[in-house]
Amino acid sequence: SPEVKLAVFGKAGVGKSALVVRFLTRRFIWEYDPTLESTYRHQANIDDEVVTMEILDTAGQEDIQQKEGHMRWGDGFIVVYDITDRGSFEEVAPLRTLLEEVKKPKNVPLVLVGNKSDLDHVRQVPTEEGERLAAEMACAFYECSACADEGGAVAEAFHELCREVRRR
Ligand code: GDP
Ligand code: MG
Repeated sequence: SPEVKLAVFGKAGVGKSALVVRFLTRRFIWEYDPTLESTYRHQANIDDEVVTMEILDTAGQEDIQQKEGHMRWGDGFIVVYDITDRGSFEEVAPLRTLLEEVKKPKNVPLVLVGNKSDLDHVRQVPTEEGERLAAEMACAFYECSACADEGGAVAEAFHELCREVRRR
């Protein structure tokens, strides 16, 4: 069966590990070692095809060489920000630029995720800004919550990225 390598990027603390664990176990883990980098294997049936995913949960504190290494490794990327942390949103565009440089001349399959949508009362990034950025990057956009995943948006983001990789 096809195998796709997915890497999850974003500032430390945005909820990368929580999203990956939610996707893999449908559970939420409150505390996760922020310095930990892990890879997981996961099989899913997507559009009647069994796809094997290798998922790299980056720590988000890597130096540029480590980042570029992860980018070379991956076929597709989930870039995460935290809707309650504008600084994390501002790190998205530079990550995208680096991805393009590393993968050039290839297109970069990408999904943008605004996490922690359960914390709407302390939101700093309006949904429309996320949508606009995703439109600029020509990629899919999901707002979701690793701890209160309603409607399965987390799984949808991972599955959509797999589709995107398979299309290219
Ligand atoms: P990472 O550094 O990007 O891997 O972030 P973590 O997954 O370790 O999460 C950082 C912190 O944010 C932890 O305290 C998590 O419990 C919390 N967190 C992660 N996702 C969510 C979410 O969707 N909602 C809320 N309220 N907290 C979250
Ligand atoms: Mg983490």
